[in-house]
Amino acid sequence: MSNEVNPFESLQEQIDDAAVHLDVEDGLVERLKNPERILETNLTFERDDGGLETVRAYRSQFNGDRGPYKGGIRYHPGVTRDEVKALSGWMVYKCATVGIPYGGGKGGISIDPGEYSEDELERLTRSFAKELRPIIGEDRDIPAPDVNTGQREMNWIKDTYETLENTTEPGVITGKNLDSGGSEGRVEATGRSTVLAAREAFEYLGRDIADATVAVQGYGNAGWITAKLADELGATVVAVSDSSGGVYAEDGLDPVAAKDHKRETGSVAGFAGADGEISNDELLTLDVELLVPAALENAIDADLAEEVSADVISEAANGPLTPDADDVLTDEDVLVVPDILANAGGVTVSYFEWVQNRQRFYWSEEKVNDELETIIVDAFDDLIAAYEEKDLANLRTAAYVVAIQRVMDSYDQAGTWP
Ligand code: NAD
Repeated sequence: MSNEVNPFESLQEQIDDAAVHLDVEDGLVERLKNPERILETNLTFERDDGGLETVRAYRSQFNGDRGPYKGGIRYHPGVTRDEVKALSGWMVYKCATVGIPYGGGKGGISIDPGEYSEDELERLTRSFAKELRPIIGEDRDIPAPDVNTGQREMNWIKDTYETLENTTEPGVITGKNLDSGGSEGRVEATGRSTVLAAREAFEYLGRDIADATVAVQGYGNAGWITAKLADELGATVVAVSDSSGGVYAEDGLDPVAAKDHKRETGSVAGFAGADGEISNDELLTLDVELLVPAALENAIDADLAEEVSADVISEAANGPLTPDADDVLTDEDVLVVPDILANAGGVTVSYFEWVQNRQRFYWSEEKVNDELETIIVDAFDDLIAAYEEKDLANLRTAAYVVAIQRVMDSYDQAGTWP
């Protein structure tokens, strides 16, 4: 894993790579590459021993040309201003790739949540919600979960916002529990789109995902659901990992049992249903048909990419390949389904949640999954069409070409203020 690559520079490079294939003015490219505004703030909250602590938090609103800013909130020690900027930019182009009416945003707090009690996390989250209150809202900016946040944090943010605003506005945030206005299918959505996108990629290659062996790096929400759904489609999940290690089973492992083991022990390491342990680098270079990076950005750098043996990569994580790794994999003819399509299921079902919140009318899980499948399959077809028509290097460039064109169109139609 490369820690030296700045994810914001990666994002800007990806936009530059795509912009050369579009009729776009240089002055507008700068707009497409930089956030509109960033909130950087202190959160001061009370520890359980009565002492006070102050931590840094961010919210980047990258581009709102296509609709309200939309994107998750991450709790991780690696959260920086540049990471949040990059993640918010990827959200713009992700929403445009799948054609949902949002811009992009992202937020984060630079902490290791494992070091805090639930009460402390609640106070911290409510403190963040208080800072976010003036800039979020169901027509302004709609946060969601990301690494180390989930339904619990979303419920707290919704409650804090609604209490301070003296209103009922569940659409201010997505990824909530069902009883707090969440949507059926939201928890599984990111893994579901990762697998649907991989299924389409194999079909494009004239192959069947059911015949594929699969390795999944990262066994949180995105990774474990990907493993479970790939297994349900008949694929063989041979390796999974998390930050404490990985496991390998030549004939395949049971993803649900591996998740149960992680729930009980905190890690997939030591899972008895596997043949043995495997390091993260070994997992990423395993001889499998499908590789799913589902942990953090920059998991695969150029050196590691030289060793990758997979035929298809479906990016559940945001930014898991460095730009140099992308070049290596393009040269090696590895079909990479980019994050801004593969993991777009999360934001797509967030969009469905927001629609249901505003209509006060809730859908069945079957309807959610059917609508999601239609959006992901159509978006995949749009990328393939651009890839073939413009003879582009890879599907990532195709995704940016499609998405940037859509953002530019909405900007053009709105017109430039004098
Ligand atoms: P999560 O916190 O639920 O899980 C993260 C997993 O990655 C954990 O199992 C952790 O142990 C593992 N991990 C961390 N560092 C690792 C390392 N160096 N090697 C191996 N494993 C490591 O987070 P998540 O929600 O599953 O998000 C994972 C990725 O998917 C992130 O890049 C996130 O931005 C992206 N994503 C998530 C969603 C969503 O809806 N959850 C949507 C879109 C994109």
